[in-house]
Amino acid sequence: MIDTNKYQTKLLELKAQIETDLAQVATTKLNSDGERWSAVPTDRDQEMEMRDEVADRFEDLTERESAERTFEARLKQVTEALQMIADGTYGICKIGGEEIESERLEANPAASTCKAHIDAE
Ligand SMILES: [Zn+2]
Repeated sequence: MIDTNKYQTKLLELKAQIETDLAQVATTKLNSDGERWSAVPTDRDQEMEMRDEVADRFEDLTERESAERTFEARLKQVTEALQMIADGTYGICKIGGEEIESERLEANPAASTCKAHIDAE
């Protein structure tokens, strides 16, 4: 028998944490997008310098977008797990239909497969 109350508490904590992380990434991205170049390059050195800066910003933006996608995927798993608790289907492997091991749920309360089907998740 799975103690869904315990995992629900954990999942709600996780959800709050991910939402905080996501808000930080999203806000930073918004600020960066809102910035505009205020100077026009007047010589070659300055132009090269700006290109480097653009490259740095691009890398940074890619990293943030990547982090944002990771958080969003994680948030989706947690939300789905909470929905399964509500539906009474929590802790059931989505591949084989067997009960997910409690130690696996301890490690990842949003797990949707048992250990045997971990690669199929
Ligand atoms: Zn399974």
